[in-house]
Amino acid sequence: MESWRGQNWENGSLGYPVSDEFCGLRESGCGQHFQHGEIYWSPSTGAHWVRGAIVESWRGQNWENGSLGYPVSDEFCGLRNSGCGQHFQRGEIYWSPPTGAHWLRGSVVEYWRAAGWENGRYGYPTSDEMCRIMAGGVRQCRQTFPRLVINFRGDTGVIDCSRMKCIALTFDDGPSQYTSRLVDILDANNVNATFFTVGQNVGVYPSTLRRSYGNGNEIMDHSWDHPDLTGLSSAGVASQLSRTSDAINATVGRRPILMRPPYGSYNSTVTSVAAQQGMAVVLWNNDTLDWSNRNTSTIISRATGSATPGGIVLMHDLYPTTVDAVPTIIRNLKTQGYVLVTASDVIGNPSPGRVYSRRP
Ligand code: ZN
Repeated sequence: MESWRGQNWENGSLGYPVSDEFCGLRESGCGQHFQHGEIYWSPSTGAHWVRGAIVESWRGQNWENGSLGYPVSDEFCGLRNSGCGQHFQRGEIYWSPPTGAHWLRGSVVEYWRAAGWENGRYGYPTSDEMCRIMAGGVRQCRQTFPRLVINFRGDTGVIDCSRMKCIALTFDDGPSQYTSRLVDILDANNVNATFFTVGQNVGVYPSTLRRSYGNGNEIMDHSWDHPDLTGLSSAGVASQLSRTSDAINATVGRRPILMRPPYGSYNSTVTSVAAQQGMAVVLWNNDTLDWSNRNTSTIISRATGSATPGGIVLMHDLYPTTVDAVPTIIRNLKTQGYVLVTASDVIGNPSPGRVYSRRP
């Protein structure tokens, strides 16, 4: 009743009650439904109102019985981009007009808060927490934001390469007939990687790409048909990149934020077009030359012998000799204390148009 009065009785955002108060809820709590929202109370949290899209999100988490528990604040609005948020016992729900309402909890909240909540580099979440068990048995979660993703794994916690010894395996020029086996190997070893795909191959192996993305790997832009981009006009570069990004987005539902120029060949036209399209330019600091040597033991020694923290390893998912090398590469890098992550995670906060060959 105090909470309803605080919302200006029936003239406020909740309207009239549409149920009596019901009690006997979890932790001896009570609730009441209103025309446009809810009020929930428990002895430890007090009474708080919930409404609109945040109610829908909370209901989707099974009300007070779910992973979020009772609200511990009312909704607060007037945030960045006209957004609103609400604190719960074990998590948060944040809403903004373009992103909708999504919940976060646990160490993802801690990490997001440390980055400045919705005002930081992540902005508002564009998904709820999404979790799965990798084929290797590790629980893996991710939460997407407009540009970045927060990855969380049962064995490592939130992937934070400012504190962890990270390295990124990257695979160019696919997808190919060998990519599906590679995706299985990564999953069986509880790791993720980044695929710089050639646009004209996207439509040939769409289900492989979707499965790879669903497993937590990144699908990024490596041009439409692999020309040397420095020989093209600005419009030509723009077409190479946007056609590929459109195809990737249409296939996996997310636009690339990284591009890798074929042959690592770029100039100021390439970087400015990449900036216009919201992509960082990602090279490598460790080239296995797998396309040339086609020798599994050579690839293994190149990938692991000169590994560096924050490094980016270049390989190609076009050759069975490369795929054969990956299980041992993963094992050796883990033995050296590395956490194998995506290129975005290694870089941390990729800036459009900027060129990276390792963690800056
Ligand atoms: Zn290439």
